[in-house]
Amino acid sequence: MTAGSGQRTAGGSPRRAVVAALAGAAVGPLLTGTAHGARAADRPDPARGAGDPAVGRIVRHMRELDGIAARHGGNRAAGYSGYEHSARYVERRLRAYGHRTRRLPFSYTRTDLLRDTVRQTGPRERVLDHVAVEGVAASPPGGATGALVAPADRFGDAPDSWDGVDARGRVALLELRPPKAPEGVRALPETPTGGCHGTRRAALRRTADDQTEAARTALRNAHAAGVVSVLFFLDGMDFGLLLRFDAPEDPALPPAATVFSEVAASLRADLAAGGARLHVDLELRDRKVDTFDVLTVPADPDAPRHLFGAHLDSVPAGPGIDDNASGSALLLDLARSAARRAPAQFCWWGGEEDGMRGSQHFVDTEPLEPVRGYFNMDMVAAPNHVVGVYGNGPERHYTEHLAAAGQPWLEGPVDGMSDQVPFLFAGVPVAGIDTVRSRPAALKTEEEARRFGGTAGLPYDPRYHAAGDTLDNTGRAGLAVCAAASHAVLRSVTG
Ligand SMILES: [Zn+2]
Repeated sequence: MTAGSGQRTAGGSPRRAVVAALAGAAVGPLLTGTAHGARAADRPDPARGAGDPAVGRIVRHMRELDGIAARHGGNRAAGYSGYEHSARYVERRLRAYGHRTRRLPFSYTRTDLLRDTVRQTGPRERVLDHVAVEGVAASPPGGATGALVAPADRFGDAPDSWDGVDARGRVALLELRPPKAPEGVRALPETPTGGCHGTRRAALRRTADDQTEAARTALRNAHAAGVVSVLFFLDGMDFGLLLRFDAPEDPALPPAATVFSEVAASLRADLAAGGARLHVDLELRDRKVDTFDVLTVPADPDAPRHLFGAHLDSVPAGPGIDDNASGSALLLDLARSAARRAPAQFCWWGGEEDGMRGSQHFVDTEPLEPVRGYFNMDMVAAPNHVVGVYGNGPERHYTEHLAAAGQPWLEGPVDGMSDQVPFLFAGVPVAGIDTVRSRPAALKTEEEARRFGGTAGLPYDPRYHAAGDTLDNTGRAGLAVCAAASHAVLRSVTG
């Protein structure tokens, strides 16, 4: 799952409520947390799933992927050897099951945050919520400290913005112009380098092109006036705003960050009351990632089919066994039980943790006409699990099975920052199942503990995106539910 503990997360707290509101505005009302299901599972057996043959097969795949990570630097991230060897394992199993496979290659740029500090040092000390601007110069070694200054005209993009203002060696606070173009339906938060689900990284929204161009002019003006760093804000914007200059880095663009408007408001109050001092230390570095998806080859590529997908990559920080060797392994088990001529295609995505790159590449480059629906599996073995089901229609295939089996589930957000999102925006009906309700770091409630077992007050997956996301720290009970439901969905849509 894509989220906020990836590379581009430094100072600042998640803005989950705002993310939810934003995403809801983009794709329709978010599903609520209504619980469903029968009483039969109110007191689940913690060992449930232990004797399930499908769970046994899936856990064996997870163990193989855990070993691959251990032998390849502790991760299976896109662009690293652990990913290549994970893909080879998947391809070997698929061939053994009678499938043909192919790789769908793609490349992208990952922006690694090497230094990312924006701190107020006077009149009070505090770390400021911010998002580093991409495509600008880096701070000098150790960063730069300076008094806060603002141009005469708020925006700083006019030729005379800095006339009569002593800005030399200072940190400028600049307001971004609101976009001229109305916000479109694609106002989904962009996640160019994120990881799974619903945290700060997912809250980032890109500036519009006209805003970016005005900001470029403002940065050049500030540099000419002697400013050492720039803080941008957009009035009313209380979640992360991503500003990126795609041209080759211009040394006349000083290091910069966007800050939330509440931060800007308090800085302006300090400025009006006598001044503020700031320390800014920013350095981002682009790294080209060459990676690929692994796909089964349908017997008839033009015939209608359903897609089943899971991301195969981990974050660089850990082996990614719940996230998402679990979904990758469940997907292998589905492929095992599907004949090569079945109207289904199985897809292992690369680069999900950097912003759903592999699924987006598929959507951008493969014919979608034959695709009747997409089913996603991401984090199906959380140790403190719930069962989350999401979708914009096809989720009924899961819920019909769960209801018949007497299993409880919770509705999750359809745009919960995993590989269903590119399909959703391409107009493909989507659905998915997980054990974290698209929020792996969320704390389990008392009510959820009563319904699903486990421990209230602890995260669904306490080692999400961490080095401890190993096989030993995954669960079986939620996996058993997801496996049975996914097999039921496969039977249902392939007849
Ligand atoms: Zn993830």
